[in-house]
Amino acid sequence: MMTTADLASLLSKNALTVLKRRYLKRDQDGRILEDPADMFRRVADAVADAETRLASGQDATSLADRFYDAMTCLEFLPNSPTLMNAGRELGQLSACFVLPVDDSMESIFEAIKQTALIHKSGGGTGFSFSRIRPANDVVLSTKGVSSGPISFMKVFDAATETIKQGGTRRGANMGILRVDHPDIMDFIMVKKDLTVLTNFNLSVGLTEAFMKAVEEGQEYDLLNPRTGEPLKKLDARKVFDRIIDMAWTSGEPGIIFLDRLNRDNPTPHVGEIEATNPCGEQPLLPYESCNLGSINLSRMVTGDGEVDWEKLRDTVQLGVRFLDNVIEINRYPLPQISEMTLSNRKIGLGIMGWADMLILLGLPYNSSQAIALADKLMNFITTEARATSVKLAEQRGAFPNFPGSSYDQAGDGPLRNATCTTIAPTGTISIIANTSSGVEPIFAVSYIRQVMDNDVLVEVHPLFEAIAHKEGFYSPELMKAIAEKGTIQGFDEIPEKVRKLFVTAHDITPEDHIHMQAAFQKHTDNAVSKTVNFPHSATREEVAEVYRLAYKEGCKGVTIYRDGSRDMQVLSVAKAE
Ligand code: ADP
Repeated sequence: MMTTADLASLLSKNALTVLKRRYLKRDQDGRILEDPADMFRRVADAVADAETRLASGQDATSLADRFYDAMTCLEFLPNSPTLMNAGRELGQLSACFVLPVDDSMESIFEAIKQTALIHKSGGGTGFSFSRIRPANDVVLSTKGVSSGPISFMKVFDAATETIKQGGTRRGANMGILRVDHPDIMDFIMVKKDLTVLTNFNLSVGLTEAFMKAVEEGQEYDLLNPRTGEPLKKLDARKVFDRIIDMAWTSGEPGIIFLDRLNRDNPTPHVGEIEATNPCGEQPLLPYESCNLGSINLSRMVTGDGEVDWEKLRDTVQLGVRFLDNVIEINRYPLPQISEMTLSNRKIGLGIMGWADMLILLGLPYNSSQAIALADKLMNFITTEARATSVKLAEQRGAFPNFPGSSYDQAGDGPLRNATCTTIAPTGTISIIANTSSGVEPIFAVSYIRQVMDNDVLVEVHPLFEAIAHKEGFYSPELMKAIAEKGTIQGFDEIPEKVRKLFVTAHDITPEDHIHMQAAFQKHTDNAVSKTVNFPHSATREEVAEVYRLAYKEGCKGVTIYRDGSRDMQVLSVAKAE
């Protein structure tokens, strides 16, 4: 078993910094009370303790040790709220929530209160604002006019800004408006002003009827959600072009394909899916929450450079059990969320370190072999995850909404969980695991980090550094030159094979990004978090092409980013924080 000292040598400096700043338990005066090994022990014990409640016949102590091992070997990590809060007073363990917002003052301000409670506990929230009547519609009780969904979103945004989650995690929101809402044009344009809705990611909810109208160059109806009646018509192509124009300008809004989310809704008899969590990978019903966990694929490779399928299978089985236990011990922020979550028991097991795995296997990210492996690997993970969920259902019972679910209707046996797999961004947990995030390509081979006193430090991808030494082309000057350029393409002193292997998010084409997203989406119950990077010189038509491609290839949504298009670009290659 991993000791404190072993773990300290395994964790990177960045991982330690992140853990110290935000994850480790502190006393009231802010003094840190645990080290990383204590943290993983706290989480493992708390999550294994569910076994005693479930009378599963499993020995909770030996299971706790297995959870501890998987986390300390950085093979599997749960989402941040679980690491922060498990085994502690707060006990809120989920990253993802969706709250309903109806067309009434009571509902809108109730949702703001609920949002505040969720943000305080470290969770992120998603909403559809499509049920709110449009701006300038009538308000019967006061005979006044309504202010519309966008003005109310600004109140959610202000509340989020104020909470800031106790100084640790900034609140994150997803705001969705259906493309047939009368205020859609204002929604699409709202982030032209970079100072508004800064705590929101925005996505337009596209329908199949709309996509067909775009294809055929038709008009389509905008419906007043209060009455269900058409208010006016818009030219679908004009709306589509405006979405593209804004995404090209600022990266927002993204899009999600609502009909597709609902086609894969496992419990249509319980409700319709209108929204996702903040980063888009988890569609949920109103009041549903979900906890995520990710397997570090860079640790699922054998010494001979092959995928370690046996180890992967064991880790999937352990991960599903872990996440199902989390549902059991979770302290939900609201009774409605508790009820809905316990009735569907959705979990989102996913992956991180995909790009690093490919490097270890010797496969370029933008190769057909990598796409084929993505397909095979995710099929394997979801199949194993479902099989584990079926076994858990035999021991612990199916999720209560199973009767009438899509599985039930298809004649499948009972499952413990309405969904099993999700591919999250793994923004922070991939730093803890010291691997590439989610299914994204590596962002840089080496980059310059600003440290104190204006000193700079060149950080090199560890696998690249190792190869550079082995192949004899390492030099500090070269590493610095690469960091300044942001890519190794064009450096003739680096062998071609290595250049092909270490392609970054900017080296590959937008189509390569979409092909990878689609390959993973094919076998993922929920959705895939993915950003499609464009060079600064990309045209609007190229962005439009990629949106159409994503639709054609079965993606559930698209998020794009054109390099340099936002003033305060968070991750700029040469000057990463
Ligand atoms: P992590 O690596 O911290 O576990 P991810 O980057 O994988 O988290 O994000 C997963 C989900 O967690 C997001 O889609 C969102 O629902 C939630 N989330 C991420 N960052 C925040 C945040 N700052 N505040 C609230 N929720 C967040």
